[in-house]
Amino acid sequence: QQTEEKLSNISVNEKESEDATDTYSPAEASLFAKIIRKGLVDNKHDIDIQRNDPNSPLYSVKTFEALNLKPNLLKGVYEMGFNTPSKIQEAALPILLADPPQNLIAQSQSGTGKTAAFVLAMLSKVDTSKKYPQVLCLSPTYELAIQTGEAAAYMAKFCPEIEMKFGVRGEELPRGTQLTDHIIIGTPGKVLDWAFRYRVFDLSKISVFVLDEADVMIDQQGHQDQCIRIHKHLSPTCQMMFFSATYTERVMSFAEHIVKNPIIIRLKREEESLDNIAQYYVRCSSSEEKYAAVTNIYGTVGVGQAIIFCQTRKTASWLAGKLHQDGHAVAVLTGELAVEQRINVLDRFREGKEKVLITTNVLSRGIDVEQVTIVVNFDLPVDRDGEADCETYLHRIGRTGRFGKKGIAINLIDSDNAMRICETIEKHFGKTIKYLNTKDCDEIE
Ligand code: ADP
Repeated sequence: QQTEEKLSNISVNEKESEDATDTYSPAEASLFAKIIRKGLVDNKHDIDIQRNDPNSPLYSVKTFEALNLKPNLLKGVYEMGFNTPSKIQEAALPILLADPPQNLIAQSQSGTGKTAAFVLAMLSKVDTSKKYPQVLCLSPTYELAIQTGEAAAYMAKFCPEIEMKFGVRGEELPRGTQLTDHIIIGTPGKVLDWAFRYRVFDLSKISVFVLDEADVMIDQQGHQDQCIRIHKHLSPTCQMMFFSATYTERVMSFAEHIVKNPIIIRLKREEESLDNIAQYYVRCSSSEEKYAAVTNIYGTVGVGQAIIFCQTRKTASWLAGKLHQDGHAVAVLTGELAVEQRINVLDRFREGKEKVLITTNVLSRGIDVEQVTIVVNFDLPVDRDGEADCETYLHRIGRTGRFGKKGIAINLIDSDNAMRICETIEKHFGKTIKYLNTKDCDEIE
Protein backbone atom coordinates (compact mmCIF):
# COMPACT_ATOMS: atom_id res chain seq x y z
CA GLN A 1 0.00 0.00 0.00
CA GLN A 2 2.87 2.30 0.81
CA THR A 3 4.25 1.82 -2.66
CA GLU A 4 0.92 2.64 -4.17
CA GLU A 5 0.72 5.77 -2.13
CA LYS A 6 4.17 6.74 -3.30
CA LEU A 7 3.23 6.08 -6.89
CA SER A 8 0.12 8.16 -6.71
CA ASN A 9 2.17 10.93 -5.17
CA ILE A 10 4.59 10.77 -8.01
CA SER A 11 1.91 11.03 -10.62
CA VAL A 12 0.38 13.99 -8.83
CA ASN A 13 3.75 15.68 -8.75
CA GLU A 14 4.37 14.95 -12.37
CA LYS A 15 1.02 16.38 -13.24
CA GLU A 16 1.87 19.47 -11.24
CA SER A 17 5.16 19.92 -12.97
CA GLU A 18 3.63 19.41 -16.40
CA ASP A 19 1.13 22.12 -15.70
CA ALA A 20 3.78 24.26 -14.14
CA THR A 21 3.98 27.75 -15.52
CA ASP A 22 7.55 28.38 -14.34
CA THR A 23 8.61 31.41 -12.43
CA TYR A 24 12.19 32.52 -12.15
CA SER A 25 14.06 34.25 -9.40
CA PRO A 26 15.63 37.65 -10.08
CA ALA A 27 19.06 35.98 -9.98
CA GLU A 28 18.08 33.53 -12.70
CA ALA A 29 16.38 36.19 -14.77
CA SER A 30 19.49 38.33 -14.58
CA LEU A 31 21.70 35.42 -15.58
CA PHE A 32 19.56 34.46 -18.56
CA ALA A 33 19.40 38.04 -19.78
CA LYS A 34 23.20 38.17 -19.64
CA ILE A 35 23.59 34.98 -21.55
CA ILE A 36 21.15 35.67 -24.30
CA ARG A 37 22.26 39.21 -24.92
CA LYS A 38 24.89 39.89 -27.53
CA GLY A 39 25.86 43.47 -26.94
CA LEU A 40 25.04 46.71 -25.26
CA VAL A 41 21.48 47.80 -24.66
CA ASP A 42 20.99 51.18 -26.21
CA ASN A 43 19.76 53.92 -23.95
CA LYS A 44 18.78 57.42 -25.00
CA HIS A 45 18.42 58.92 -21.54
CA ASP A 46 20.98 61.22 -20.00
CA ILE A 47 23.12 60.17 -17.08
CA ASP A 48 22.12 61.67 -13.77
CA ILE A 49 25.03 62.35 -11.41
CA GLN A 50 24.77 63.25 -7.72
CA ARG A 51 27.68 64.04 -5.45
CA ASN A 52 28.25 65.62 -2.10
CA ASP A 53 30.91 68.05 -3.14
CA PRO A 54 29.73 69.90 -6.21
CA ASN A 55 33.14 71.55 -6.53
CA SER A 56 35.04 68.35 -7.10
CA PRO A 57 35.69 68.05 -10.80
CA LEU A 58 33.89 65.40 -12.74
CA TYR A 59 35.22 63.91 -15.88
CA SER A 60 33.59 61.93 -18.52
CA VAL A 61 35.57 60.03 -21.12
CA LYS A 62 34.69 59.50 -24.73
CA THR A 63 37.48 57.02 -25.43
CA PHE A 64 39.18 54.18 -23.60
CA GLU A 65 42.59 55.75 -24.40
CA ALA A 66 41.69 58.77 -22.29
CA LEU A 67 41.72 56.53 -19.22
CA ASN A 68 45.49 55.99 -19.30
CA LEU A 69 45.13 52.27 -18.85
CA LYS A 70 48.05 49.88 -18.87
CA PRO A 71 48.68 49.13 -22.56
CA ASN A 72 47.97 45.43 -22.17
CA LEU A 73 44.70 46.13 -20.47
CA LEU A 74 43.65 48.52 -23.23
CA LYS A 75 44.56 45.79 -25.70
CA GLY A 76 42.24 43.44 -23.80
CA VAL A 77 39.40 45.97 -23.98
CA TYR A 78 39.77 46.21 -27.76
CA GLU A 79 40.10 42.46 -28.00
CA MET A 80 36.61 42.23 -26.51
CA GLY A 81 35.35 44.36 -29.36
CA PHE A 82 34.71 47.48 -27.29
CA ASN A 83 35.46 50.56 -29.36
CA THR A 84 34.05 53.32 -27.25
CA PRO A 85 32.78 53.43 -23.67
CA SER A 86 29.05 52.94 -23.13
CA LYS A 87 27.04 55.75 -21.55
CA ILE A 88 27.40 54.42 -18.03
CA GLN A 89 31.09 53.72 -18.62
CA GLU A 90 31.75 57.28 -19.80
CA ALA A 91 30.74 58.56 -16.40
CA ALA A 92 31.66 55.62 -14.17
CA LEU A 93 35.16 54.81 -15.38
CA PRO A 94 36.80 58.13 -14.43
CA ILE A 95 35.25 57.80 -10.96
CA LEU A 96 36.27 54.16 -10.57
CA LEU A 97 39.82 54.87 -11.68
CA ALA A 98 40.22 58.13 -9.76
CA ASP A 99 43.19 58.72 -7.52
CA PRO A 100 42.55 59.25 -4.64
CA PRO A 101 39.83 56.61 -4.82
CA GLN A 102 36.18 57.62 -4.95
CA ASN A 103 33.20 55.58 -3.84
CA LEU A 104 30.56 54.95 -6.44
CA ILE A 105 26.95 53.83 -6.54
CA ALA A 106 25.86 53.12 -10.09
CA GLN A 107 22.44 52.13 -11.29
CA SER A 108 21.47 51.25 -14.82
CA GLN A 109 19.52 48.47 -16.38
CA SER A 110 21.03 45.17 -17.29
CA GLY A 111 23.09 45.25 -20.48
CA THR A 112 24.37 48.81 -20.23
CA GLY A 113 27.98 47.93 -19.48
CA LYS A 114 28.24 47.94 -15.68
CA THR A 115 30.12 44.65 -15.43
CA ALA A 116 32.62 45.65 -18.07
CA ALA A 117 33.16 48.93 -16.20
CA PHE A 118 33.95 47.47 -12.80
CA VAL A 119 35.93 44.57 -14.24
CA LEU A 120 38.15 47.09 -15.99
CA ALA A 121 38.51 49.06 -12.76
CA MET A 122 39.32 45.90 -10.78
CA LEU A 123 42.02 44.89 -13.22
CA SER A 124 43.58 48.28 -13.43
CA LYS A 125 43.69 48.78 -9.65
CA VAL A 126 45.65 45.61 -8.97
CA ASP A 127 49.24 45.96 -7.80
CA THR A 128 50.82 42.74 -9.04
CA SER A 129 53.95 43.26 -6.95
CA LYS A 130 51.82 42.46 -3.91
CA LYS A 131 50.98 38.79 -3.63
CA TYR A 132 47.69 38.85 -1.77
CA PRO A 133 44.03 39.53 -2.50
CA GLN A 134 43.42 43.26 -2.99
CA VAL A 135 40.21 43.28 -4.93
CA LEU A 136 37.05 41.56 -3.77
CA CYS A 137 33.96 41.29 -5.94
CA LEU A 138 30.74 39.82 -4.56
CA SER A 139 28.03 38.44 -6.82
CA PRO A 140 24.65 37.04 -5.75
CA THR A 141 25.02 33.54 -7.18
CA TYR A 142 27.57 31.02 -8.35
CA GLU A 143 26.57 31.46 -11.98
CA LEU A 144 26.69 35.24 -11.91
CA ALA A 145 30.12 35.14 -10.27
CA ILE A 146 31.32 32.86 -13.06
CA GLN A 147 29.97 35.25 -15.72
CA THR A 148 31.87 38.13 -14.14
CA GLY A 149 35.02 36.05 -13.79
CA GLU A 150 34.85 35.07 -17.43
CA ALA A 151 34.54 38.70 -18.50
CA ALA A 152 37.52 39.54 -16.28
CA ALA A 153 39.62 36.70 -17.68
CA TYR A 154 38.81 37.82 -21.22
CA MET A 155 39.74 41.41 -20.55
CA ALA A 156 42.93 40.33 -18.77
CA LYS A 157 43.98 38.17 -21.71
CA PHE A 158 47.18 40.15 -22.22
CA CYS A 159 47.86 40.59 -18.50
CA PRO A 160 48.91 37.09 -17.41
CA GLU A 161 50.52 38.53 -14.28
CA ILE A 162 47.09 39.26 -12.78
CA GLU A 163 45.79 36.29 -10.84
CA MET A 164 42.15 35.68 -10.00
CA LYS A 165 40.36 33.21 -7.79
CA PHE A 166 36.71 32.21 -7.69
CA GLY A 167 35.30 32.17 -4.15
CA VAL A 168 32.30 29.99 -4.92
CA ARG A 169 30.92 26.60 -3.99
CA GLY A 170 33.14 23.76 -5.07
CA GLU A 171 36.35 25.76 -4.58
CA GLU A 172 37.91 24.01 -1.61
CA LEU A 173 41.13 25.20 -0.01
CA PRO A 174 43.20 23.25 2.49
CA ARG A 175 43.37 24.85 5.91
CA GLY A 176 46.42 27.01 6.30
CA THR A 177 46.36 28.14 2.68
CA GLN A 178 47.28 31.77 2.12
CA LEU A 179 45.84 33.07 -1.13
CA THR A 180 48.33 34.86 -3.38
CA ASP A 181 45.79 35.79 -6.05
CA HIS A 182 45.15 39.49 -6.56
CA ILE A 183 41.43 39.29 -7.18
CA ILE A 184 38.66 37.24 -5.55
CA ILE A 185 35.31 37.00 -7.31
CA GLY A 186 32.80 35.12 -5.24
CA THR A 187 29.53 34.74 -3.41
CA PRO A 188 29.04 36.12 0.12
CA GLY A 189 28.81 32.77 1.93
CA LYS A 190 32.01 31.32 0.55
CA VAL A 191 33.91 34.56 0.95
CA LEU A 192 32.82 34.82 4.60
CA ASP A 193 33.99 31.27 5.13
CA TRP A 194 37.35 31.99 3.58
CA ALA A 195 37.82 35.20 5.48
CA PHE A 196 36.81 34.05 8.96
CA ARG A 197 36.75 30.28 9.21
CA TYR A 198 39.69 29.38 7.00
CA ARG A 199 41.45 32.73 7.12
CA VAL A 200 42.94 32.25 3.68
CA PHE A 201 43.02 35.99 3.07
CA ASP A 202 42.82 39.21 5.01
CA LEU A 203 39.76 41.40 4.46
CA SER A 204 41.53 44.43 5.89
CA LYS A 205 44.02 44.33 3.01
CA ILE A 206 41.29 44.63 0.39
CA SER A 207 41.56 48.01 -1.34
CA VAL A 208 38.71 47.64 -3.83
CA PHE A 209 35.34 46.15 -2.89
CA VAL A 210 32.77 45.59 -5.62
CA LEU A 211 29.19 44.68 -4.94
CA ASP A 212 27.54 43.52 -8.09
CA GLU A 213 23.80 43.14 -8.70
CA ALA A 214 22.99 44.62 -5.33
CA ASP A 215 19.26 44.42 -5.98
CA VAL A 216 19.46 40.71 -6.71
CA MET A 217 21.69 40.30 -3.68
CA ILE A 218 19.02 41.71 -1.36
CA ASP A 219 16.56 39.26 -2.81
CA GLN A 220 18.65 36.29 -1.73
CA GLN A 221 17.95 35.22 1.80
CA GLY A 222 20.71 36.29 4.14
CA HIS A 223 23.04 37.66 1.46
CA GLN A 224 22.54 41.22 2.51
CA ASP A 225 23.60 40.45 6.09
CA GLN A 226 26.60 38.50 4.89
CA CYS A 227 27.69 41.40 2.71
CA ILE A 228 27.37 43.78 5.62
CA ARG A 229 29.44 41.45 7.80
CA ILE A 230 32.16 41.29 5.18
CA HIS A 231 32.03 45.01 4.70
CA LYS A 232 32.54 45.64 8.45
CA HIS A 233 35.99 44.11 8.29
CA LEU A 234 37.21 46.14 5.36
CA SER A 235 39.61 49.00 5.85
CA PRO A 236 38.06 52.48 6.04
CA THR A 237 40.13 53.47 3.03
CA CYS A 238 38.83 50.64 0.88
CA GLN A 239 37.18 51.90 -2.29
CA MET A 240 33.54 50.84 -2.63
CA MET A 241 31.85 50.16 -5.94
CA PHE A 242 28.17 49.38 -5.79
CA PHE A 243 26.12 48.30 -8.81
CA SER A 244 22.45 47.69 -9.26
CA ALA A 245 19.98 47.44 -12.10
CA THR A 246 17.22 49.05 -10.07
CA TYR A 247 17.05 51.99 -7.72
CA THR A 248 14.55 51.28 -4.99
CA GLU A 249 14.46 52.35 -1.39
CA ARG A 250 15.65 48.93 -0.33
CA VAL A 251 18.64 49.12 -2.65
CA MET A 252 19.51 52.58 -1.45
CA SER A 253 19.28 51.76 2.24
CA PHE A 254 21.54 48.79 1.61
CA ALA A 255 23.90 51.07 -0.31
CA GLU A 256 24.05 53.48 2.62
CA HIS A 257 25.36 50.68 4.82
CA ILE A 258 28.18 49.94 2.47
CA VAL A 259 29.13 53.10 0.64
CA LYS A 260 30.18 56.25 2.48
CA ASN A 261 30.25 59.53 0.67
CA PRO A 262 29.44 58.17 -2.73
CA ILE A 263 29.08 59.68 -6.13
CA ILE A 264 25.79 58.33 -7.44
CA ILE A 265 25.28 57.87 -11.14
CA ARG A 266 22.02 56.73 -12.66
CA LEU A 267 20.74 55.99 -16.08
CA LYS A 268 16.99 55.72 -16.45
CA ARG A 269 15.69 52.47 -17.84
CA GLU A 270 14.94 52.48 -21.52
CA GLU A 271 11.38 51.28 -21.67
CA GLU A 272 10.36 48.63 -24.11
CA SER A 273 7.84 49.64 -26.71
CA LEU A 274 5.65 48.06 -29.34
CA ASP A 275 6.42 50.75 -31.90
CA ASN A 276 8.41 48.64 -34.29
CA ILE A 277 6.35 45.51 -33.87
CA ALA A 278 3.69 44.34 -36.27
CA GLN A 279 1.15 42.51 -34.11
CA TYR A 280 -1.26 39.89 -35.39
CA TYR A 281 -3.74 37.41 -34.09
CA VAL A 282 -4.74 34.11 -35.61
CA ARG A 283 -7.97 32.24 -34.85
CA CYS A 284 -7.49 28.53 -34.23
CA SER A 285 -9.90 25.93 -32.98
CA SER A 286 -7.46 23.40 -31.54
CA SER A 287 -3.85 22.86 -30.57
CA GLU A 288 -3.37 21.14 -33.90
CA GLU A 289 -4.52 24.25 -35.69
CA LYS A 290 -2.28 26.36 -33.54
CA TYR A 291 0.55 24.10 -34.54
CA ALA A 292 -0.34 24.46 -38.22
CA ALA A 293 -0.39 28.22 -37.80
CA VAL A 294 3.07 28.21 -36.28
CA THR A 295 4.52 26.17 -39.12
CA ASN A 296 2.79 28.29 -41.77
CA ILE A 297 4.09 31.47 -40.26
CA TYR A 298 7.53 30.06 -39.85
CA GLY A 299 7.55 28.76 -43.40
CA THR A 300 6.64 32.21 -44.68
CA VAL A 301 8.87 34.43 -42.64
CA GLY A 302 11.65 31.91 -42.49
CA VAL A 303 14.61 34.15 -41.93
CA GLY A 304 15.89 34.78 -38.49
CA GLN A 305 14.90 33.13 -35.27
CA ALA A 306 11.64 32.74 -33.43
CA ILE A 307 10.69 32.50 -29.78
CA ILE A 308 7.45 30.75 -28.90
CA PHE A 309 5.87 31.24 -25.49
CA CYS A 310 3.65 28.55 -23.98
CA GLN A 311 1.72 28.66 -20.76
CA THR A 312 2.78 25.26 -19.42
CA ARG A 313 5.72 22.91 -19.67
CA LYS A 314 3.39 20.29 -21.07
CA THR A 315 2.44 22.43 -24.05
CA ALA A 316 6.05 23.45 -24.53
CA SER A 317 7.31 19.90 -24.73
CA TRP A 318 4.40 18.77 -26.92
CA LEU A 319 5.07 21.59 -29.37
CA ALA A 320 8.80 20.97 -29.36
CA GLY A 321 8.24 17.30 -30.10
CA LYS A 322 6.02 18.07 -33.08
CA LEU A 323 8.34 20.69 -34.55
CA HIS A 324 11.24 18.36 -34.08
CA GLN A 325 9.40 15.57 -35.89
CA ASP A 326 8.80 17.91 -38.77
CA GLY A 327 12.48 18.53 -39.09
CA HIS A 328 12.85 21.89 -37.35
CA ALA A 329 15.83 22.61 -35.13
CA VAL A 330 14.14 23.58 -31.89
CA ALA A 331 15.40 24.37 -28.44
CA VAL A 332 13.28 24.14 -25.32
CA LEU A 333 13.81 26.14 -22.19
CA THR A 334 11.61 25.29 -19.24
CA GLY A 335 11.83 25.20 -15.49
CA GLU A 336 12.71 21.55 -15.03
CA LEU A 337 16.12 22.03 -16.64
CA ALA A 338 19.09 22.49 -14.36
CA VAL A 339 20.73 25.89 -14.55
CA GLU A 340 23.69 24.46 -16.45
CA GLN A 341 21.38 23.02 -19.08
CA ARG A 342 19.51 26.28 -19.40
CA ILE A 343 22.74 28.17 -19.96
CA ASN A 344 23.63 25.65 -22.63
CA VAL A 345 20.27 26.03 -24.38
CA LEU A 346 20.52 29.83 -24.33
CA ASP A 347 24.12 29.83 -25.55
CA ARG A 348 23.20 27.63 -28.49
CA PHE A 349 20.19 29.74 -29.39
CA ARG A 350 22.18 32.96 -29.21
CA GLU A 351 24.77 31.43 -31.52
CA GLY A 352 21.98 30.58 -33.94
CA LYS A 353 22.37 26.82 -33.68
CA GLU A 354 18.63 26.51 -33.20
CA LYS A 355 16.18 28.67 -35.07
CA VAL A 356 13.24 28.25 -32.74
CA LEU A 357 13.21 28.57 -28.99
CA ILE A 358 10.18 27.32 -27.12
CA THR A 359 9.82 28.50 -23.60
CA THR A 360 7.40 29.07 -20.76
CA ASN A 361 7.83 32.29 -18.87
CA VAL A 362 11.56 32.59 -18.70
CA LEU A 363 13.16 35.48 -20.57
CA SER A 364 10.07 37.52 -20.25
CA ARG A 365 12.31 40.54 -20.04
CA GLY A 366 15.27 41.46 -22.13
CA ILE A 367 15.00 39.22 -25.13
CA ASP A 368 17.54 41.06 -27.08
CA VAL A 369 18.82 38.71 -29.65
CA GLU A 370 19.12 40.72 -32.82
CA GLN A 371 18.13 37.93 -35.08
CA VAL A 372 14.85 37.15 -33.32
CA THR A 373 12.26 38.37 -35.80
CA ILE A 374 9.15 36.54 -34.66
CA VAL A 375 7.68 36.15 -31.24
CA VAL A 376 4.71 33.82 -31.03
CA ASN A 377 2.35 33.69 -28.11
CA PHE A 378 1.18 30.13 -28.38
CA ASP A 379 -0.73 31.07 -25.26
CA LEU A 380 -1.37 34.67 -24.28
CA PRO A 381 0.17 35.76 -21.01
CA VAL A 382 -2.31 35.75 -18.15
CA ASP A 383 -2.00 36.50 -14.47
CA ARG A 384 -3.08 34.24 -11.64
CA ASP A 385 -6.69 35.18 -12.09
CA GLY A 386 -6.54 34.32 -15.76
CA GLU A 387 -6.72 37.98 -16.78
CA ALA A 388 -4.55 39.62 -19.44
CA ASP A 389 -1.00 40.18 -18.20
CA CYS A 390 -0.11 43.25 -20.24
CA GLU A 391 3.25 43.80 -18.60
CA THR A 392 4.45 40.32 -19.48
CA TYR A 393 3.10 40.79 -23.00
CA LEU A 394 5.23 43.91 -23.39
CA HIS A 395 8.33 42.20 -22.02
CA ARG A 396 7.90 39.24 -24.33
CA ILE A 397 7.29 41.25 -27.46
CA GLY A 398 8.56 44.76 -26.92
CA ARG A 399 11.93 46.03 -27.95
CA THR A 400 14.02 48.84 -26.63
CA GLY A 401 14.28 50.08 -30.17
CA ARG A 402 17.97 49.46 -30.35
CA PHE A 403 18.07 48.43 -33.94
CA GLY A 404 14.89 50.07 -35.05
CA LYS A 405 14.37 46.72 -36.70
CA LYS A 406 10.88 45.48 -37.29
CA GLY A 407 9.66 42.56 -35.31
CA ILE A 408 6.57 40.43 -35.73
CA ALA A 409 4.37 39.24 -32.91
CA ILE A 410 1.73 36.61 -33.43
CA ASN A 411 -0.95 35.69 -30.94
CA LEU A 412 -2.72 32.40 -31.33
CA ILE A 413 -6.33 32.59 -30.20
CA ASP A 414 -8.20 29.36 -29.50
CA SER A 415 -11.22 30.50 -27.51
CA ASP A 416 -13.53 33.42 -26.94
CA ASN A 417 -11.80 34.00 -23.66
CA ALA A 418 -8.43 34.22 -25.41
CA MET A 419 -9.97 36.67 -27.88
CA ARG A 420 -11.19 38.79 -24.99
CA ILE A 421 -7.70 38.79 -23.45
CA CYS A 422 -6.23 39.77 -26.78
CA GLU A 423 -8.64 42.70 -27.02
CA THR A 424 -7.75 43.80 -23.51
CA ILE A 425 -4.09 43.86 -24.48
CA GLU A 426 -4.86 45.75 -27.67
CA LYS A 427 -6.81 48.38 -25.76
CA HIS A 428 -4.20 48.65 -23.04
CA PHE A 429 -1.43 49.59 -25.45
CA GLY A 430 -3.61 51.39 -27.97
CA LYS A 431 -1.93 49.49 -30.78
CA THR A 432 -3.86 47.46 -33.28
CA ILE A 433 -3.46 43.71 -33.30
CA LYS A 434 -4.43 42.72 -36.84
CA TYR A 435 -6.32 39.64 -37.93
CA LEU A 436 -4.15 37.23 -39.90
CA ASN A 437 -5.31 34.39 -42.04
CA THR A 438 -2.43 31.93 -41.85
CA LYS A 439 -3.47 30.29 -45.08
CA ASP A 440 -2.44 33.56 -46.63
CA CYS A 441 0.61 34.70 -44.73
CA ASP A 442 1.63 37.10 -47.49
CA GLU A 443 -0.20 39.72 -45.48
CA ILE A 444 2.66 39.72 -43.02
CA GLU A 445 4.53 42.95 -43.38
P1 ADP B 1 25.64 44.97 -17.38
O1 ADP B 1 26.65 44.55 -16.36
O2 ADP B 1 25.13 46.36 -17.17
O3 ADP B 1 24.53 43.98 -17.55
P2 ADP B 1 27.68 44.25 -19.31
O4 ADP B 1 28.92 44.90 -18.84
O5 ADP B 1 27.54 42.81 -19.06
O6 ADP B 1 26.38 45.03 -18.79
O7 ADP B 1 27.57 44.57 -20.87
C1 ADP B 1 26.51 44.10 -21.67
C2 ADP B 1 27.06 43.59 -22.98
O8 ADP B 1 27.66 44.64 -23.72
C3 ADP B 1 28.14 42.52 -22.83
O9 ADP B 1 27.99 41.60 -23.88
C4 ADP B 1 29.43 43.30 -22.97
O10 ADP B 1 30.47 42.50 -23.47
C5 ADP B 1 29.04 44.39 -23.95
N1 ADP B 1 29.76 45.66 -23.71
C6 ADP B 1 30.04 46.23 -22.51
N2 ADP B 1 30.69 47.40 -22.69
C7 ADP B 1 30.81 47.58 -24.03
C8 ADP B 1 31.38 48.62 -24.86
N3 ADP B 1 31.94 49.71 -24.34
N4 ADP B 1 31.32 48.45 -26.20
C9 ADP B 1 30.72 47.35 -26.73
N5 ADP B 1 30.18 46.36 -26.02
C10 ADP B 1 30.21 46.46 -24.68
